[in-house]
Amino acid sequence: MRQKKKTPKKQAVEIVVLSFLIALFGGAILLMTVPSPQILLEGKPTERVDVFATYTDAGASARFLFFDISDRIVSSETVDTSRPGRYQIRYAVSVFLKDAAVFRTVEVVDRTPPVVTLVGDSELRLEDIRDFSDPGATAQDNYDGDLSSSVTLSHTEKKIEKGEDAGGTEYTYTYSVLDSSGNTGFATRRVLVLDKTPPVITLRGEETVTVMLGQPYEEQGAAAEDAVSGEVEVSVSGSVDTGTEGEYAVRYTAEDEAGNTAEVIRKVRVKKPLPAVSQGQPLTPGGSYVALTFDDGPSGNTTAVLDVLQKYGVKATFFILNYSESQIPLLKRIVNEGHTLAIHSYSHDYSAIYTSADAYMNGVYTMRDKILRDTGYSATILRFPGGSSNTVSRSYCSGVMTRLAKRTAEEGYTYFDWNVDSGDADGNCMSKDYLVKNVKNGLRQGRVNVVLMHDAAPKTTTPQALPEIIADAQAKGYTFIPLSSSVPPVHHGINN
Ligand code: ZN
Repeated sequence: MRQKKKTPKKQAVEIVVLSFLIALFGGAILLMTVPSPQILLEGKPTERVDVFATYTDAGASARFLFFDISDRIVSSETVDTSRPGRYQIRYAVSVFLKDAAVFRTVEVVDRTPPVVTLVGDSELRLEDIRDFSDPGATAQDNYDGDLSSSVTLSHTEKKIEKGEDAGGTEYTYTYSVLDSSGNTGFATRRVLVLDKTPPVITLRGEETVTVMLGQPYEEQGAAAEDAVSGEVEVSVSGSVDTGTEGEYAVRYTAEDEAGNTAEVIRKVRVKKPLPAVSQGQPLTPGGSYVALTFDDGPSGNTTAVLDVLQKYGVKATFFILNYSESQIPLLKRIVNEGHTLAIHSYSHDYSAIYTSADAYMNGVYTMRDKILRDTGYSATILRFPGGSSNTVSRSYCSGVMTRLAKRTAEEGYTYFDWNVDSGDADGNCMSKDYLVKNVKNGLRQGRVNVVLMHDAAPKTTTPQALPEIIADAQAKGYTFIPLSSSVPPVHHGINN
């Protein structure tokens, strides 16, 4: 029998196949035992970088067996430093299907606070904090840009206790702004407030007051106003001895909250009443005289006028109208206190008194007789209602004033008009100050000033104005006189 034998050809095929299989399995086994590549991070695993700064990636290095394969590293991301945020970079390398990777975290952050810039000076000095007008501030941020509109203002204040600014207040204004990364920028302005202006003291009444010897001095006080502290208290010091002639100083002081002080002094002159010029006594030529005259009384108001005249030791003249029985004591008082009791008219009815010269004169005779009977006083001084210059009489009798001026002189009467008008007849109750002002402005030195006033019942402000009028004139050296025939007459121009 023939034995089958492997031929050499067949054997070669087997060897090839076997070798192939061995190589295949061996390769696989070999592959399975191949080590992974190694990758190492260069630099730190976490890094922080400022926005807009240049970031240099330190990268990574990789090895496989003995080989440097760093150039095969692939990184996942680049860091954009213009955008704050958290970036994670993956560095990876791959060899024979084997991978290795490392990571790095990079934070792009904005750590720069905005820059706040003051508009205007960083230090100001003021007298009053209410004068502070905030000039504001601008803000610029490296990342957010212009933040001026987001600037907020706060302030603190503290009293300055020591040093040259003691008493003042220091205000610290802080302008702050926050950027989108939470960084705060700020700037401060110092405002030093110190009131250096003293209060202003305003006296009530005159700066110079004249008090008659023995009469009480009435303190009128003063008010003080400070631009910062407002109304402040006034202390009054100094005393006036009205029993001793002389000049006294009353001192008014005021202090504001900042300690600024002001002082005003009022001069008080205590004088003997001026030597009274009695009726009929001659006057010094060129002397300065005031003759106060009161028309249209008597009335209850006459008492108030007499009281003031008595207090100031001043003699005056009362031009009266017809009166009642009950008013006789008032007339007696006028006479007894040394005033001139003079005749205005029987009535104030123009249509009755100016119908003729006789009509007026008959009224005068009646009044003169009545006054003589009731008081024992012989009245010779006259004042025509409306004054000698009146034109109202034209409607009742042409030329009556011309005739009356002549006739009264012939019959031994003296009439007076006036050259200073107190204005108390400009309305029923003109203010006291109005009367004082009119008389003060009307007086002239070196003449007889005949002052028109009224003591009819409604003229209640007239006696109120008298003290100031008298004190002012006395302080200016005027002598008060009652009218008489020896006083140079004051006449208006006659118009009828
Ligand atoms: Zn009158």
